[in-house]
Amino acid sequence: MALNLFDVGPLPAAGRPAVFLDKDGTLVEDVPYNVDPALLRFTDRAIPALQLLQEQGYPLIIISNQSGIARGYFDQAALDRLAEALSAQLRQAGITLAGFYACPHAPPEPGEPGCSCRKPRPGLLRRAALEHGIDLTRSWMVGDILNDVEAGRRAGCKTVLLDVGNETEWDMAPLRQPHFRARHLMEAASFILDADARATGQRSLFPDALPDPLAADGLLQVGSGLPATGVLAAAGGMPVSAPAL
Ligand SMILES: [Mg+2]
Ligand SMILES: [Zn+2]
Repeated sequence: MALNLFDVGPLPAAGRPAVFLDKDGTLVEDVPYNVDPALLRFTDRAIPALQLLQEQGYPLIIISNQSGIARGYFDQAALDRLAEALSAQLRQAGITLAGFYACPHAPPEPGEPGCSCRKPRPGLLRRAALEHGIDLTRSWMVGDILNDVEAGRRAGCKTVLLDVGNETEWDMAPLRQPHFRARHLMEAASFILDADARATGQRSLFPDALPDPLAADGLLQVGSGLPATGVLAAAGGMPVSAPAL
């Protein structure tokens, strides 16, 4: 089997931090296999959240599974048109996407290795890091299901689960433990800025938003597989334990 450059190659040692965002259910409301720009709807507080992250200097990069291509529901050109429409809508709000990466492959058959770019695998994040000079260990992956979290952790990123009811299986293996849970993208953005400000010894933009997340959990030990719990609960936010199903 051919080795994929993005799986084994060296990664930038001193790149910039970025925020990687899942698309469906995270940046825009989930319309399964949608490539119709008319059906794009941003999620709750997505626009101010991205404006804030961009103001603070984070490149914003979409990381999306698009198996509709492998399934024959639409082609790459249709996805490209959707990506351009999404970018155009964001530009109207002053937001520039630094990248849009999509895996076109189908989920692997049982026993098959599958591609290296479909989340929960980290191939797209690694590729984006190489192409944009991103330091993955200082970056964040934000998504609405645990496969997003796992892809982020496998890439070495910190992670935020947008906990809006889209995850249904709750397989909470260590690699699938989000560092934070958020109810909307603005909450995710404030967590990210708060945690990064504390990590670099700067004054937080959100000094009253949270207890010290670095003291509260293993955030500094990114990639250790340590679960992060208690942060939001201690802040009076939503419970952080997995809901009973
Ligand atoms: Mg999603
Ligand atoms: Zn793929």
